[in-house]
Amino acid sequence: MNQEWHQLRNPGLIPGGHDPAAAQQRAEQLGLDRWREFPRDQMPPWPDYSEVEQVCEVLDTVPPIVAPYEVDALRSQLAEVCAGRAFLLQGGDCAETFADNTESHLVANARTLLQMAVVLTYGASMPVVKVGRVAGQYTKPRSADVDALGLPVYRGDMINSLEATPEARVADPQRMIRAYANAAAAMNMLRAYLSGGIADLRAVHEWNRNFVRQSPAGERYEAIGREIDRALAFMSACGVDDDALHSVTVYASHEALALEYDRALTRVSDDRAYGLSGHFLWVGERTRRLDGAHIDYISRIDNPIGVKLGATTSPDWALEACEKLNPDNIPGRLTLITRLGNQRIRDALPPIVEKVHAAGREVVWQCDPMHGNTHESSNGYKTRHFDRVVDEVLGFFEVHRAIGTHPGGIHIELTGEDVTECLGGAQALEDEHLSQRYETACDPRLNTQQSLELAFLVAEMLRH
Ligand code: PEP
Ligand code: MN
Repeated sequence: MNQEWHQLRNPGLIPGGHDPAAAQQRAEQLGLDRWREFPRDQMPPWPDYSEVEQVCEVLDTVPPIVAPYEVDALRSQLAEVCAGRAFLLQGGDCAETFADNTESHLVANARTLLQMAVVLTYGASMPVVKVGRVAGQYTKPRSADVDALGLPVYRGDMINSLEATPEARVADPQRMIRAYANAAAAMNMLRAYLSGGIADLRAVHEWNRNFVRQSPAGERYEAIGREIDRALAFMSACGVDDDALHSVTVYASHEALALEYDRALTRVSDDRAYGLSGHFLWVGERTRRLDGAHIDYISRIDNPIGVKLGATTSPDWALEACEKLNPDNIPGRLTLITRLGNQRIRDALPPIVEKVHAAGREVVWQCDPMHGNTHESSNGYKTRHFDRVVDEVLGFFEVHRAIGTHPGGIHIELTGEDVTECLGGAQALEDEHLSQRYETACDPRLNTQQSLELAFLVAEMLRH
């Protein structure tokens, strides 16, 4: 891109000016590019880094996906979670794809998340902060560089293609532009739909999709829907009405993995930097080294951020992460997302929570019951059993209740479709059912019924 044109249009969000030199100076003061000097796991194998830089020049100047005031609002809501007065529900696809970035898929996933939120809000009488894995969840960390066919591994649509050919698997920086365009379109649609009729609490029955309605979870959901209708009729008769009954805010989150993308969408305002590729960014289990690039980047933005904690996490590490990522101990700033596995959580989580709690560190504790419970089915599918997912969440509640900390939230992979990717649940899915509708681009997701069932169980746990 022509340099002059680029400079003219770089707004930088500097108050009172559009001065790229000042923006660059601020970015330097804030250390927004220090990550480039640090060890970086899961580096996308870009064939030509100069092309990455050209793409980033474009992304430097585009309108951001989210707005700073929304990011601040989410941090305040997460501060409520931190204080034990709200619950964080985060979920969506393991990997979003460009092909599935459709109205029907986005609406289906959003409705499933909203149904879960209704069950939790109603069942536990607690405000629920809703965060989608959406509008940017286009990169995947991988355990190996090649797949079962010997091809370069799929790393998410932002990097390469799922199609199984050597050409399609070459990392292509132009995909960051497509990811941005898809994320912007998704965010635009969600904002519009969720502030309009679709998210109106009076439409609570319409969120229940036909293939779910006749199921046990769907029937229980209908019963709650009827009670909500009666409550709304009562409120209306009393003359009570409120915007909160007619619209919903779903925040967007993704793993901060392709740091070039997230950095290019970072904007500076006064002395603060906002990662505006999404409201909430997290660092995954495979990239969380404290001296590494990913932790450095998220330490410098003002967003609410998260880190995944796998089974090898020591209590000392968790405390060090708190000190590095939230030095000012701001409530809502940092979410620790434990993904320990149902067999480890009751032993591994207590020392971590005790250490962080005893040090007085403010964190949101969130349970990801998916990533520690993945196994291969007898017929070769990557899957998870619903019983193990539920058991990890149960263990999470037990541990926090015993220590006196707030079990703040859950982080799950789900879809609003009737897929067969995870085993068990009321449909009692077994290995031989997996092939019927196994559609994920990466990890297996709970289907709508399983997601609702989980919400009912969690609502019960929250109540007791
Ligand atoms: C994920 O959330 O999809 C993921 C890869 O998680 P983790 O980093 O915990 O393995
Ligand atoms: Mn996943």
